[in-house]
This record gives sequence, C-alpha cells and structure tokens, in this order.
Amino acid sequence: MKLSVPGHIQAIAPYKPGKPLDELEREYGISGSVKLASNENPLGPSPMALNAIRQSLSSLHRYPDGGGYELIRKVARSLGVDEGCVVLGAGSDDIIGMLIRAFLWPGSEAVVPNPSFLMYPIGVAVSGAGLVSVPLSSLTIDLEAMGKAVTERTKLVFICNPNNPTGTIVRRQNFERFIEALPAGVVVVMDEAYTEFVRDPGHFSGIDYLDSDHPVVVLRTFSKAYGLAGLRIGYGIMPVEIADILHRVRQPFNAGALGQIGAAAAIDDTAFLQRSVSLVHEGLDRLFEGLNTLGVRCFSTQANFFLIDVKRDANRIFEKMLEKGVIVRSMVSYGYPTYIRVNVGLASENERFLSALERVLDGEAPVKRGGNG
Ligand code: PMP
Repeated sequence: MKLSVPGHIQAIAPYKPGKPLDELEREYGISGSVKLASNENPLGPSPMALNAIRQSLSSLHRYPDGGGYELIRKVARSLGVDEGCVVLGAGSDDIIGMLIRAFLWPGSEAVVPNPSFLMYPIGVAVSGAGLVSVPLSSLTIDLEAMGKAVTERTKLVFICNPNNPTGTIVRRQNFERFIEALPAGVVVVMDEAYTEFVRDPGHFSGIDYLDSDHPVVVLRTFSKAYGLAGLRIGYGIMPVEIADILHRVRQPFNAGALGQIGAAAAIDDTAFLQRSVSLVHEGLDRLFEGLNTLGVRCFSTQANFFLIDVKRDANRIFEKMLEKGVIVRSMVSYGYPTYIRVNVGLASENERFLSALERVLDGEAPVKRGGNG
C-alpha cells in the first residue's frame, strides 16, 4: 500500500503493553496464570464502582456528560481545588496527549526523564517536537540535570512521581529549587499515577504548587489504586488557564459514561482504597523478604511495583517466567538489560511469583555484567 507517512511518525516504536493473560494462556496452553506486569490492582475493581456501573448500563445509548459535571465536582471536593482546575481524560494517557497537542510543535522541546513512563517520549515523537531525554541518577529523577536541560525551546517538562519503572520519588526541596529556576511559561507535568501507594512521609503532591507562579499540572488516575484500568478514566489538576487550553484540544466525549460513573462511585469507596493500599504494602514486605532469602537484589519502591536485578538476560527470564505462567516486565527496552519489573499481586500470586523465580534462576547461570542502574 502506498502511504505518505512523515519520518518522525515512522520512527516511533509502538508502546508495548504488558502481555494479556488470555494471550499467554492461549499461546502456552496453560490456565491459572498470573499477571504482575502492568501495575494493575489485583483486588479487582472497586465494588462501589461496579455497583454504580451496573445501575447505569441502560443509559448507554446516551453520550456521556461532555462537561463531566458529577465526577469533576467530586474530584474537586476531595482534593480541595476549584472545579475549573480539573480536566477529565480517557485515562491519564489522554491528558498527556492533550498537553502535548496543546503545548508542543515541531521546533519546540520537551524535557523527559529516562527511563520513565514510555508515553511521554512516544507522545513527544508524535508531535514532531524535540525530545530531550535526561538520565536518572541512582534510579531517581535528577531534577538538577533536568533543569540544566531546559532551553528557550522547552515548553513541557515531565516528572513521574513516583517514577515508573523505578518506584522512586523526588524531594520537595529539589522540586522547589527546580521550578524556581525554570523560565516563565514552561509547563511542569507531575504524573502522580501511583501516589496513593507512597509510604515515605516526605512525599508531596504537585497540587501544593497549583497556586504558585509556575504552571504545574498534576496527573492522577483511577486505573491503579481504584482498580478501574479497563474503564480508561483519569484526570489532570491544573491552573484554570491551562484547563481552558486543554478543553480546546480534547475530544468532546473523551471521558466515557461508565468511566465517569464508576470513578465518581470509587471516590466514595474509601474502604476499597484502604484495602488496595494495605495489600500493596503487605505484599511488598513479603516479596522483599522472599527475594532477600533468595539472595536476589531488589530496589526499594514507593509504588505498587519494583525493579529486580536478576543478573541474567531479562528477556530470557521474562520468557522462562511465562512458561511458568507468570507475566513480568523485562526492562531491556528501558535500558536495564538484567532487570525485570514486577507489581504486587494477591498473597497467593506473590508466592507463585517467588517460587517460579527461584526455579527459573536456578536453571539459568548469571551473566558477568551487572545491570546499569
Ligand atoms: N502515568 C504512569 C506513570 C503510568 O504508569 C500509567 C499507566 N501505566 C499512566 C500514566 C497511564 O495510566 P492511565 O491512562 O491508565 O490513567
């Protein structure tokens, strides 16, 4: 087929999601497998969200509320911000896309940590803008280096807090120093997809800087702690001036009806949220204990996932774990050739992971080189 596709689009490597369970079971002819590869909530969806969704199914012939009235009202109230500061998205992915459409163009630049969430570089590549990729330092976003990478062409800066895939957070003092030095008008995007899981008492939210002179946009999602990844619903919190811009570039019905209804109910489901967070904390403690017993190096985290240095080719360990019915994420394409990323599952899934990893590592000799983290 003859297509005329610009070079900057052709050069994009498509986002590779975690392998779906159905696909694994079909390919390997197995059942009862475990997915610990996409940082999903192992408890399932919020029961209150499910209930609200069931009751709304008969209205599916209607378009969603394009203004997101009820969900925006609830989000704004729960965070203590003005309703005009909240923009809904089909997942926070959608808000990332809107920010890129609104603020980047060929000739401008975005500063992005590396490795971090892959939709930042992919989105920037789609826009034709320049990508300035700043390496992490000790698996942590290096705000000093990010600041130095800002030029007069910089329009957007992404900070992932906690960072996916490393699970580390940035310090308030470093963040304040960073935004103080930014040229006026550079929009700072603070992606807080995993903020609910953070245990470090020094953790802060970008929401604290909503009223500062610096344009800060905070991204949140219902995909993780609320267990609604399949609904595709998230939001951004931002100065009204930025919200006004995003409303110009978003699709009119970007946040689906079930997403809005489910998320609005999930906000009230505080018992579920607490259960989700406790499950992650207990699971992390158990996984770290189990991995320490195996003598495997893992990296401390503030999220519901963490990195493990398997000291072997991570793609091979990924394949071997698949054969045992456990899906993890290889970090080879993130620049960590011997690391895998694993998210916390149910207690039984965590045990299954530990025993599968023990057997897989026993059968594979370590490589000489270490990881590069
Ligand atoms: N930001 C980060 C850091 C993520 O890890 C993810 C999901 N993997 C997202 C945003 C997107 O989440 P969603 O679109 O499901 O809200």
